[in-house]
Amino acid sequence: MASTLPTKDHSILIVGAGVFGLSTALHVAQDGYTNITVLDREPVPSPYSAGNDINKIVRAEYEDPFYTALALDAIKEWETPFWSNFYRPTGYLLTTSLNAPQKARDTIKKSFSSIGDHPSFPSGSFSAVDNANDIKRYLPMLEGQMDGWSGYLNRYAGYARAAKALEYAAKRCLELGVRFVTGDDGYAVEILFESADKGKKVCVGVKTANGDIHKAAHTILALGAHIGTLLPEISQQVTAKSWAVAHLQLSPEEAAVMKGCPVVNCRDLGFFFEPDEDTGLIKLSANGAGYTNNITTSEAQASLPTASNDGIPTEDEDLIKRLIQQAMPQFSGKELVKKFICWCADTPGSDYIIDHVPGTMGLLVVAGDSGHGFKMLPVAGKWVKKALEDDEQIIERWRWKDKKSGSDNISWRVGKVKDIKEVEFSGLKSRI
Ligand SMILES: Cc1cc2nc3c(=O)[nH]c(=O)nc-3n(C[C@H](O)[C@H](O)[C@H](O)COP(=O)(O)OP(=O)(O)OC[C@H]3O[C@@H](n4cnc5c(N)ncnc54)[C@H](O)[C@@H]3O)c2cc1C
Repeated sequence: MASTLPTKDHSILIVGAGVFGLSTALHVAQDGYTNITVLDREPVPSPYSAGNDINKIVRAEYEDPFYTALALDAIKEWETPFWSNFYRPTGYLLTTSLNAPQKARDTIKKSFSSIGDHPSFPSGSFSAVDNANDIKRYLPMLEGQMDGWSGYLNRYAGYARAAKALEYAAKRCLELGVRFVTGDDGYAVEILFESADKGKKVCVGVKTANGDIHKAAHTILALGAHIGTLLPEISQQVTAKSWAVAHLQLSPEEAAVMKGCPVVNCRDLGFFFEPDEDTGLIKLSANGAGYTNNITTSEAQASLPTASNDGIPTEDEDLIKRLIQQAMPQFSGKELVKKFICWCADTPGSDYIIDHVPGTMGLLVVAGDSGHGFKMLPVAGKWVKKALEDDEQIIERWRWKDKKSGSDNISWRVGKVKDIKEVEFSGLKSRI
């Protein structure tokens, strides 16, 4: 059944309808593939997708020009009529605060010096901000003192209305004839192989929680942070890590004042967005190195997402409150609502993994989003399609790695990774 080189009528099974899975389905369907099925344990947008959120940052300045180019490509797509309903080009303020570690300051300086006069950004995109007065000149809605805040404003950036963009991608896929199977019927529990061909196991599809068998010539796994549950051998290069998300409910009058605020990202505290236009919710997230959930299974030692994502660590709640106090103290008296942790799939060097699983035929994986995958929703699928059609990954950094390689010291993250079982949760004793 499995064949290495796909033809347009071959059956393609995409497991996981999150950011990478939907983008892949869209790109292969748009290219004329006619037999595509997408499985997910929940309807789109799944509560298990890291992309199921009111908004996600879209920005292109990376320290690494490789991802800068890809993100610029993605922004161009966000600006097209196909995606633009879900893109808000508010701009992006990136700063550190008074007590930021030197590492955070250095990273911002480095990224500012590498992109300040980058020819692919529209001229005038960037302005340095050296203090609170500079910031308030561009962001007058921020009433806080922002002591010691400095960094830069990037006007060629903004955010995506994330969950809505996922729903839209799924709708467009349906229109193109993609089949969706969700719930227990779409919850993959086992990858199915047939006898070896040329020394390789031949993947013929997956089995789902209701016992159904979904057969396909090409199976693509796009399970985000959950990839290690179905493909344990990837856990040596992918670590599930989580971060805290919380919200402030604004009144319509308060939301009107904050409308148009660029995304504010203070590296040593956290980040927030303008109020959501439907609900008036401001989404905030704490910055940090992330929380693992290390467990030992019969097959591997791995960090895998927890069963429930409710609540956030107390230390992150404190960070978010400090962020509010420093930037928008007018909302300090408000309770934080809709608090949860959100899981992504981290790799040591923050590179994605888009490759055929070694020792197999007909099985491709797209994983390792490393917390910077959402902005790529309009373009990621074309990279997956290319790897599928080439029958190999020609981009070395996206290849499967047999052992952990690269450093865990990710330059744009502050602090130390902790295990989620060891931190106190606000409102809960601990998270088990
Ligand atoms: C706190 C946080 C903030 C972030 N902010 C940003 C940002 O501002 N900008 C940005 O670009 N990126 C951001 N990201 C990263 C972005 O959300 C991810 O890169 C992206 O969601 C990864 O896409 P994915 O398809 O790999 O996984 P996901 O989007 O998580 O999708 C995985 C899918 O697999 C499904 N699934 C899981 N297990 C199974 C199974 N066994 N069977 C069937 N289906 C299954 C899930 O239901 C889900 O739909 C953030 C991530 C986090 C954690």
